[in-house]
Amino acid sequence: MYIRELFDNKKLVMSAEVFPPKKNGMLEGVIRALKEIKPLDPDYVSITYGASGSGGMTTADVASVVIDAFDMTAVAHMTAVNMTKELLEERLQMLSRKGVKSILTLRGDIVEGSRFYDFRHANELAAYIKERYPEFELLGACYPEGHPEAASLDADIEMVKLKTECGVSHLVTQLFFDNATFYDFAEKAGKAGINATVSAGIMPITNTQQVERIVSMCGVQIPTAFSKICANYQGEDLYKAGIDYAIGQIRDLIDHGVQGIHLYTMNKGDVARAVFSAFEGDRK
Ligand code: FAD
Repeated sequence: MYIRELFDNKKLVMSAEVFPPKKNGMLEGVIRALKEIKPLDPDYVSITYGASGSGGMTTADVASVVIDAFDMTAVAHMTAVNMTKELLEERLQMLSRKGVKSILTLRGDIVEGSRFYDFRHANELAAYIKERYPEFELLGACYPEGHPEAASLDADIEMVKLKTECGVSHLVTQLFFDNATFYDFAEKAGKAGINATVSAGIMPITNTQQVERIVSMCGVQIPTAFSKICANYQGEDLYKAGIDYAIGQIRDLIDHGVQGIHLYTMNKGDVARAVFSAFEGDRK
């Protein structure tokens, strides 16, 4: 099923993101997570692409498992970093053979060893795929607080618009902890003429190291209510408080009419279960 069909037909679209193993094979961890995620009935599962363009094969392998073994809709992430036209053709044909219909086109995180060959930005990847493989539905990333490299939120929104003009029909946001940033972004994106559907990306934070990593990697703002949780709770208490915070964020988003929620599960089936089960009634 295409993601646009979900948004055409459901009042609430809840998806889950998993990551594949760093090495080929060794799928046990992600399969364990998928076993826990399947009964939650996510509308789709997205599978990340390794940093610096590594692990494209495992993304495709996990997508295939999501579709064939678990009978769920899969979205495969794909990055421009270290990507040539030749490699992209190979990857797309493989994804097509495995039954993947939707691709989340990204630039990719820049790490040591990152190079750009035929594609520099997500929109270039999207335009190429749209032209040569129009059967794929394309998704893209957006940043409620603006992408860290962008000169301003407005400038970044123009680049998101460009992405949609290149064929991206659905956007998934970077994680955020302050819903006000999302509402502000959604309003600005609408005014800028972006009419793609949007899923709000939520990551339940369940341990202290996660907070430090997220802030340094994504540069997202930490609102006072959330920093108090991080300062005052540890261990099991932080785990519970982090899940409750994510549930509170999602409840507020739904109350504001947000149709798409994307949960960054970090392959933690227990966390996904706690969050999804809080919204069973909303999904009927
Ligand atoms: P782009 O859209 O290319 O934007 C990057 C920067 O360049 C922005 O500042 C933007 O304003 C600017 N820009 C965009 N287009 C142009 C243009 N044509 N000309 C000039 N400037 C431009 N990373 C991975 O490695 N693997 C993953 O699986 C993965 N999944 C992700 C899923 C989601 C939902 C999100 C939000 C991020 C994900 N990332 C992943 C991280 C992502 O690769 C990084 O955030 C990266 O820094 C930017 O990716 P992008 O697709 O938004 O890039």
